[in-house]
Amino acid sequence: MPPIKKIVIHCAATSNGEWLGKTTDSDAVIIDQWHKARGFARRKHNIRQFNPDLKHIGYHFVIGLDGRVATGRAIGEQGAHVKGHNKHSLGICLIGTDAFTREQWAALTELIHRLSRQYPDAVLCGHRDLSPDIDGDGTVEPHEWTKICPGFDVGEWVDNDFAPWPEHVIPFYAMPGMSE
Ligand SMILES: [Zn+2]
Repeated sequence: MPPIKKIVIHCAATSNGEWLGKTTDSDAVIIDQWHKARGFARRKHNIRQFNPDLKHIGYHFVIGLDGRVATGRAIGEQGAHVKGHNKHSLGICLIGTDAFTREQWAALTELIHRLSRQYPDAVLCGHRDLSPDIDGDGTVEPHEWTKICPGFDVGEWVDNDFAPWPEHVIPFYAMPGMSE
């Protein structure tokens, strides 16, 4: 298994607080369809070994509004989520754009802690932190972000003991027809 050097947080760039998987399809299945349209493809032997119904998804984890963590690619399987850094990284995607439910924040924190224990050398970052350092001063600054993904500053969140800022927290509403 290749070493995991980076854990990269993403957002799905969907409306904040809006469910993706409507009735039968899960968030991961919907993202799998998007990634199929973008031409992403998992290797056949990986598909056979893990999540055979998801043949395209580029992320390793997807966190839904209710805090449920769905798996995509297997840990150790090369992802398709951040240009130039896919080889030794894990990709985690939060449903939403820049505001997430308390359930999502709690699930993300727990997942990060678990992965950090398993891969203590892995660096945690947001997708936008891996944008090219255009002016070459060693820091990727806001004007250099090619994407806003994941919609918040991962470093600041970690420094704040994994407590999200209020503007990045939204209430959770169960999907109609969903049991509470
Ligand atoms: Zn991203």
